[in-house]
Amino acid sequence: VVSDVHAGDGMQIRTGDDYRSSLRDGRVIYFDGQLVEDVTVHPRFQSAVEVTARGYDQGLDLSGRSSFPATEMELREQVETFTNVQAQIDLLGATTFSALLGIETAADRLADDLPEYAQRINNFVAWSRRHNRRCVPTITDAKGDRSTGPMKQSDPDQYVRVVGSDENGIVIRGAKLHIRGAAILHDLLVLPTKKMSPGEEEWAVACAVPVSTPGVEILNAGWHVPPQRDSYYPYSRNRTIPVGLVVFNDVYVPMERVFLLGEIQHSATLVHAFGTWDRIISASMMAADAHMYVGLAQLLAEANGVDRTWHVRDKITEIVLHATMIRAGVEAAIANAELTSSGYLAPAELYTNAAKHYASINLTRVMTLVQDLAGGSIVNAPMPGDLEGAHVGELVKKYMQGPDGISGEYRTRLMYAARDVVADWFAGHTQVLGLHGAGGPYAQRLVARKNYPVSDAKSVARAALGLSEDTAI
Ligand SMILES: Cc1cc2nc3c(=O)[nH]c(=O)nc-3n(C[C@H](O)[C@H](O)[C@H](O)COP(=O)(O)OP(=O)(O)OC[C@H]3O[C@@H](n4cnc5c(N)ncnc54)[C@H](O)[C@@H]3O)c2cc1C
Repeated sequence: VVSDVHAGDGMQIRTGDDYRSSLRDGRVIYFDGQLVEDVTVHPRFQSAVEVTARGYDQGLDLSGRSSFPATEMELREQVETFTNVQAQIDLLGATTFSALLGIETAADRLADDLPEYAQRINNFVAWSRRHNRRCVPTITDAKGDRSTGPMKQSDPDQYVRVVGSDENGIVIRGAKLHIRGAAILHDLLVLPTKKMSPGEEEWAVACAVPVSTPGVEILNAGWHVPPQRDSYYPYSRNRTIPVGLVVFNDVYVPMERVFLLGEIQHSATLVHAFGTWDRIISASMMAADAHMYVGLAQLLAEANGVDRTWHVRDKITEIVLHATMIRAGVEAAIANAELTSSGYLAPAELYTNAAKHYASINLTRVMTLVQDLAGGSIVNAPMPGDLEGAHVGELVKKYMQGPDGISGEYRTRLMYAARDVVADWFAGHTQVLGLHGAGGPYAQRLVARKNYPVSDAKSVARAALGLSEDTAI
């Protein structure tokens, strides 16, 4: 039996209302310099809270879902559960799903060397599932001078570290950046952002921290909340979540929730375990998005009456190839999934990282193609509100129409939708999320290269070129 170590958080969250009350737990949240009294009613947080609450009301229960997949079919089902365009709306559900799989994978990898930590992780996962809580990997440190590690920073708090302990727990200090949904979820899974070297033991710390813990303070990035009518932002209105800079201001963490404490040899084990799940989910989401971009491009071409023009068809074909390549990478990652020593299937790292990398670096190109196909109205169309005016509405309908069968109203709304997806605030956010989310392209290149059979490639090249081993320099 796992004890509920944090007072007041033993509640099982079933409904949207349960979720809303679970957020009124004394958490310290700031927006634009102001303390937020209640995230559930604050205008900037409310829509994201409502989307997550709906996920609860629709019975999205992660308790059974995030157990390890044993077959290819289960793995595919799990990867796809949260990654079609509709399901992506419950981003915190998807984040929790991959976070729990990630930390379970870490437990599996720690089990031989550090069985007590593995047990604590498994206890945490069981507790989190039982209470149907939402959590997020809380990895990216402030990092200060990026050219050097924590020990050489003039301020040692640039990486989260242990600053005190007693027999029952530890005290941590530092900050983590870019944490998805931090202000509106329950638990932060704190992990070292990189491998630590000898002497850096105090920074080799991993633990689970409820957002409501005294000393946790969350500052939020400015993000876009549709300020006007839904029709202006039909895509992003359900997809924006707050992203937090999470400060750990001497936060006490009970030992039951500590998963690493100075074991530098395992400082990167956790982040690597998370990486595979985070990236396969991201790649799968990006495959679903790319499929949607194909449809959007086709709708725009038809609305402009140019869908049969060769260069337009060619541009849509380019998006088709993009969508297909990402999907192929995800499928290859599943088809080549690796059986772990514990008997579960994990997506193949090479294909997972290659798919995510390919999706990231080509995203801007694909968005540009959609902008190209839309024409300037993607940013200059009159506003949907104009459609409602008796006089101006008629003008919009007359001058925004496309070929026969494409009304001015439809074409105006389509342009607004396209703007939301590829040419407005959310589009910029999507590009940066695509690039840096789940680790930047550099990290994906490293993992892909590490997993590619380069020696085999050398042997193949030698054989093909008629070079023997002993002539090699
Ligand atoms: C929308 C969004 C959501 C995110 N969600 C989460 C989340 O939920 N949880 C989480 O933990 N993280 C999250 N991240 C963080 C993400 O993983 C990081 O953005 C990513 O790892 C890059 O780190 P950074 O932003 O600190 O960039 P930096 O590390 O500052 O990198 C900036 C540039 O410097 C280069 N660079 C950095 N260090 C070195 C070095 N030592 N040597 C050479 N070049 C270097 C990088 O390659 C890059 O080009 C999110 C990011 C975004 C954009």
